[in-house]
Amino acid sequence: MKKLVALVAVLSAVLAHADNYPSKTVSIVVPFAAGGPTDRVARDLAEAMRKPLGDVAIVVDNVLGAGSSIGSNKVAKAAPDGYTLLLNHIAMATMPNLLRNMPFKVDSDFEYLGMINEVPMTVIARPTMPAKSFKEFREWLNGHKGAINLGNAGVGSASHLCGLMFQNALQIDMTAIPYKGTAPAMVDLMGGQIDLMCDQTTNTTAQIEAKKVIAYGVTTAKRLTVPALKDLPTLQEDGLKGFDVSIWHGLYAPKGTPADVVAKVNRALKIALKDPDFIKKQEALGAVIITDKRIEPAEHKKFVAAEIARWSPIIAAAKEYID
Ligand code: ASP
Repeated sequence: MKKLVALVAVLSAVLAHADNYPSKTVSIVVPFAAGGPTDRVARDLAEAMRKPLGDVAIVVDNVLGAGSSIGSNKVAKAAPDGYTLLLNHIAMATMPNLLRNMPFKVDSDFEYLGMINEVPMTVIARPTMPAKSFKEFREWLNGHKGAINLGNAGVGSASHLCGLMFQNALQIDMTAIPYKGTAPAMVDLMGGQIDLMCDQTTNTTAQIEAKKVIAYGVTTAKRLTVPALKDLPTLQEDGLKGFDVSIWHGLYAPKGTPADVVAKVNRALKIALKDPDFIKKQEALGAVIITDKRIEPAEHKKFVAAEIARWSPIIAAAKEYID
């Protein structure tokens, strides 16, 4: 059976090579819910890459669950023909540190296609929360320890990582409420079913602006420049020393995807990242487009390996708060 699977993989790679790629719809798997922050990046990118990739249709396929490991695994096992790609974020570096059983290998099951952007996160609370700022929240915590529900997108996700760092910094255990993405978690936060969430600005900016949630702070070391969030203090300013969490997105294909297909997708990605419309949309949501060498597949791969190593001791130090 294994031999047959390997043969099919080789055959589809050969066919893809001969196929004058792309000649049919390309699917980008997003391993989180539609309408969430990763989905937002993928949909904007799919639009910007369509023309550079030969005017072929690019669809976003949301394959949900288990902190992005289900969708990522689907791509790891897909035919290596360039028609099934993966867009994932920092979970590629946190899953190996947080999941007990990884169904795939981040370093050897993928071709790296280049990085896309970096996105800060924000800590946000339900609109009915009595504490209206992070300072007030810390006071409010005194009477409410042990009674806080923290939404996330599953073990290994960015919101899980950020929530873990947040609990560790405050030395307070909160109850994790996992969702299949922060789009559904946001609905529950706005409705007051959960208390808190840490999420990318690509999902929180509009809700903060519309006052549908309370923003406590940004997770990066510096304040953001995006107009909607520029007055929001950093968590460091408000006393969480050294707190600095920012996430990044990259594009992947199954291992064995032919080099010329990888090169074509990478070229289309580079063009998309210079598309003024894509840049404008992403920057308005606090994202910073990658312009450095991590746009190259080899550097992307090096960076992910370095991130796995960087987060390993930080996550280990916070193990008491891992759900
Ligand atoms: N923001 C999510 C996360 O925490 C992912 C998503 O729903 O796009 O990883």
